[in-house]
Amino acid sequence: MPEGPDLLSEPARKTPIIGAYDIIVLGGGPAGIAAATAAGMHRRNVLLIERYGFLGGMGTAAGVTNFCGLHANVHGEIRQVVHGIADDLLARIDKLGGLNAPHLVLGKIYAQAYDTAAYKCAADELLLSRGVTVLFHALATGVIMEAAGRIKALLIETRSGRAAVLGRVFIDCSGDGDLAAFAGAAFEQGDEAGDTLYPTMMFRVSGVDAAKAGEAWRTVPALMEAAEKRGLRFPRKGAIVRPQKHSSEWRVNVTQVKNAQGRAVDGTDAAELSAGEIDGRRQALAFFEFLRREVPGFGDAYIVDIPPQLGIRETRRVLGQYQLSADDVISCATFPDTIGVNGWPIENHVAGDVVWRWPDIPAARGFNHLPYRMLVPRGFDNLLVAGRCASMTHEGQSAARVSGGCFVMGQAAGTAAHLSLAGNTGCRDIAVEKLQALLESDGVYLGRE
Ligand SMILES: Cc1cc2nc3c(=O)[nH]c(=O)nc-3n(C[C@H](O)[C@H](O)[C@H](O)COP(=O)(O)OP(=O)(O)OC[C@H]3O[C@@H](n4cnc5c(N)ncnc54)[C@H](O)[C@@H]3O)c2cc1C
Repeated sequence: MPEGPDLLSEPARKTPIIGAYDIIVLGGGPAGIAAATAAGMHRRNVLLIERYGFLGGMGTAAGVTNFCGLHANVHGEIRQVVHGIADDLLARIDKLGGLNAPHLVLGKIYAQAYDTAAYKCAADELLLSRGVTVLFHALATGVIMEAAGRIKALLIETRSGRAAVLGRVFIDCSGDGDLAAFAGAAFEQGDEAGDTLYPTMMFRVSGVDAAKAGEAWRTVPALMEAAEKRGLRFPRKGAIVRPQKHSSEWRVNVTQVKNAQGRAVDGTDAAELSAGEIDGRRQALAFFEFLRREVPGFGDAYIVDIPPQLGIRETRRVLGQYQLSADDVISCATFPDTIGVNGWPIENHVAGDVVWRWPDIPAARGFNHLPYRMLVPRGFDNLLVAGRCASMTHEGQSAARVSGGCFVMGQAAGTAAHLSLAGNTGCRDIAVEKLQALLESDGVYLGRE
């Protein structure tokens, strides 16, 4: 134990155990939603823990409002390639009237916008339909280990006090690798220089005159360039300004939030995050003024939402049995232990810009397999990691971190956790052919033909 004037000793305490579950999923983003649903579908006793009072992760809490990675450009034909639980969720969002038709991105691939309220409600329904217990307003703060590489309990802080939940298998879908880090798993953060993808404060405006705005997503970049020639400065190039389901409401993805040194805000540093929230909102207001002043159709618009938190694209990436790389994405890699596919390209949020790299479409098939090994952290028996904190390199993560890839990883992790309990084996030792067969029978496309 370190000693020093800046350290306080806390008294030892007894912590109440408030439940015991087959599978505990930390985090209710796309990975956690899919992981908990999959485990529930296989009749496991599942607890999902989420610090907010709603599901969706960055998709709702950071106002992303747009699914990427559901599709791939397969030899020139854009197809939906992520199915299974994602289909069930999309259908539920659609039934609530909250899903746009897919739209073309950069002339090469589709994304699909949604309404955050519908996403939250649809995800509640989905989890409840599979018997998952959801504990909202619970922040995971630590683990109790049973033995090296084997987790016994997750510690949480709630309004009702500190508590422990016992689990047989744990799935870290926190996006930030919190659970894995508490358990001592090895991880990386950022590129060789430690720089992560830059965060963005999303926002939405309403009151847009859609007829006057027309296809503003095509004209806004040129208007920004013209404004820059007059001396205006923007946080980054590549603004995304696009309509939501109702044509008067548009999402804006343009801010880029830096720390005092000009590097990407570190989403694991509380002080940087705090300053970043404030700077993100400041940037949103500044860009909104530009929109209202200079973009046709936005003159009477108003900001309808600045989301609960700054959008964090990348923090810890837990080191697993395999790290998905940029090369895997660009070469459309094939893996024998495929659990589904990623069709989203490299989308690197660097200082002042977004840099895209694509497979050689249409010659290439436009998607890579996601291997089961990227979900299996090194040295653990009963821990899986899915979503943006799974085992990927910095650039590999810039692609497979989007929602489509997270749904795929989550469904596979929930199903694998079930199989490890059914076979009484560690997660790393499950029979991958069995996992693949179950995933296929649950509607997942493994990309094998
Ligand atoms: C600004 C921005 C724009 C993006 N644009 C797109 C886009 O257009 N399309 C797209 O598909 N993707 C986009 N992405 C990426 C995508 O949203 C995320 O990568 C994806 O949501 C990651 O899913 P996840 O489930 O791994 O983690 P997250 O979505 O981060 O969810 C993790 C969940 O875990 C919870 N949690 C974390 N730690 C704890 C803890 N200790 N205790 C309790 N709960 C905890 C969080 O509250 C959160 O709900 C964007 C991301 C950002 C930041």
